[in-house]
Amino acid sequence: MVKAAMPYHQITITIPEQFKDPLLRKLAELGSLGSLDQGHTITAYFPATAPLSTIVGELQVISLLVNAAEHDIPVRMEHSLLPDADWNESWKKGFTPIDVGERFTILPPWEQPSGSRIPLIIDPGMAFGTGHHETTRSCLVLMERYAGTVKKERFLDLGTGTGLLAMAAIALGFQTVVGVDTDPLAIEASRRNMALNKAERIELIEGGIEKCEGGFDMITANLISGTLVQLAGEIASRLVPSGIVIMSGILKGQDDEVVEAAKNSGLACIERLVDGKWVSLACRR
Ligand code: SAH
Repeated sequence: MVKAAMPYHQITITIPEQFKDPLLRKLAELGSLGSLDQGHTITAYFPATAPLSTIVGELQVISLLVNAAEHDIPVRMEHSLLPDADWNESWKKGFTPIDVGERFTILPPWEQPSGSRIPLIIDPGMAFGTGHHETTRSCLVLMERYAGTVKKERFLDLGTGTGLLAMAAIALGFQTVVGVDTDPLAIEASRRNMALNKAERIELIEGGIEKCEGGFDMITANLISGTLVQLAGEIASRLVPSGIVIMSGILKGQDDEVVEAAKNSGLACIERLVDGKWVSLACRR
């Protein structure tokens, strides 16, 4: 959490559902300190020192592109400058503890763990993955379901974001856990979260799958369909013969192409888990 007593820019953007995830990623890229996701409305916070004209300029380009395609909801933006206290309170309100799967509870650093579930503490900072997203939740459910069927020696989280799945892998008993992400901000956020969860033994690598060597017993890849199709072969080549790969971030209707790419790389999908408009797959050789 940023504690400085300074005002914050609050930008509220109304956008059609299907553009929310790319918008959230763009906001993080632009240096947003955090964002609230409420239906069609995203509220993002930036420090008072952020280059507002650049940020608004980039968001206007997105509005123009989305509006040009005439979707059901036109993109709208509002900006205001908030005193420090408001920013802290509104952001905290949006990030509440959430129970996921049979064993996990995900909570922000300012909440106390309660009950017998395994706490995963997440300070989302600038990265994706507070556990409130369907794809993250499905990955955790599938990890729990299949962890007992593999050796639990080596785990790879491709596109680790906040590091949440890598930390869950430690909790599930994997000995060596590697988290990679092409985004340096995600690596930074993961490092912070690892310290909060005393999970510093996770190996964090900035980059893509080419940086990952050796075989893994379980791989999670919560990316997007296009990237999964592209990387299926590389992913499959890093899976030990008895290993399981969990692929997510797939929109309904795009799952067949991912299943096909997996099949062409020697992987068979053993489960399709659907949550809302998102599909997650568990595959093995
Ligand atoms: N694993 C987390 C975060 C998923 S978001 C969760 O399940 O919640 C996807 C992450 O993948 C982002 O942090 C993004 O920066 C990263 N990413 C996107 N393409 C990638 C690629 N080709 N290789 C590695 N990381 C990638």
